[in-house]
Amino acid sequence: MPMIREVQPKKLFMGKLDYGSDLLEELTSICKKKNIYSGKIEAIGAVTKAVLAYYNQEKKTYETFPIDKPLEIIALIGNISSKDNKPIVHAHITLADKEGKTFGGHLVSGTILYACEFIIQQFDGYVFKRGFDEVTGLPLWKE
Ligand code: ZN
Repeated sequence: MPMIREVQPKKLFMGKLDYGSDLLEELTSICKKKNIYSGKIEAIGAVTKAVLAYYNQEKKTYETFPIDKPLEIIALIGNISSKDNKPIVHAHITLADKEGKTFGGHLVSGTILYACEFIIQQFDGYVFKRGFDEVTGLPLWKE
């Protein structure tokens, strides 16, 4: 059965991240500092290198792969929920090289910024909590 909750827009945060910082860690740190447990994220910019992940559905495990070159962040889209009572950012990203060839995947630590402009929309009204999902092996929204 689909899980649907009503949320309301709360605060909007907009900003830029530092050269050399880790994209996922910075976004997660902002959520912790601002107490954001429910929301959505978008960002554009560029990275000096990236690490992405692909979830292998047969093995039920994330397989990470590095891309060791400068890339544009074409789009980052993600959500914020709660796991073990801490904010967790789940983000997917599309990156492009100098020929416009794109790479994409689940964002993990190790993606290092050249430049980044982000917007975080905080929600009010409901906080999704992640927990182990038996069917997929993923930490999905359980309540
Ligand atoms: Zn993902």
